[in-house]
Amino acid sequence: MPFELGDFVNLEAVTQYALYALSCMGAFLAALWLALVIWTFKDMRSRSRDVLAAILAALLVAILNIPALLIYLILRPRETLNEAYERALEEEALLQQIEVRNSCPGCSRPTKDDWQLCPHCMTILKKACVQCAYPLDLTWNVCPSCSTPAPGRGGEIEPEPQAPLAPMPSIVPSKANASIIDDTQETVATPPQTTE
Ligand SMILES: [Zn+2]
Ligand SMILES: [Zn+2]
Repeated sequence: MPFELGDFVNLEAVTQYALYALSCMGAFLAALWLALVIWTFKDMRSRSRDVLAAILAALLVAILNIPALLIYLILRPRETLNEAYERALEEEALLQQIEVRNSCPGCSRPTKDDWQLCPHCMTILKKACVQCAYPLDLTWNVCPSCSTPAPGRGGEIEPEPQAPLAPMPSIVPSKANASIIDDTQETVATPPQTTE
């Protein structure tokens, strides 16, 4: 006696369940597709200021789905804008630390802030302020403690007024030139006198 499927299960009910499952699956896939597109757009926005690049990446994922997403994951900028900013800050802080850490320019041994002389090689590291004896860096123009001009710099500024004095003697030759011009004027003036 041949058996029919309809004898055991309700075919209509099975097809209904199958349709229901398929629609659920479809809705899930649609949501997943939308989520991938939105995620790609947001991810690209966090990695690049270029809005067009983010739209393009999202569009590619919208059209080609998973393969485009894989390609995007390979090609996307390595770090986000925030990560890049934090890295720049860390690098700057590291550079400042290196600058702050003092070392003798003569023997490159570590020195301390209040040392005026390297005890190893006798290199002059600092100069004392003439007013308050604050240890001044050799490159400083002014004492940061009492705003007195640094002694080394003051000595350099002093010769400068002498420099404007130097052109003074050069005026004398120009006077000589003027007298030569006067002489020529006189010589020019003399011919009419001789004609008279
Ligand atoms: Zn030294
Ligand atoms: Zn001072």
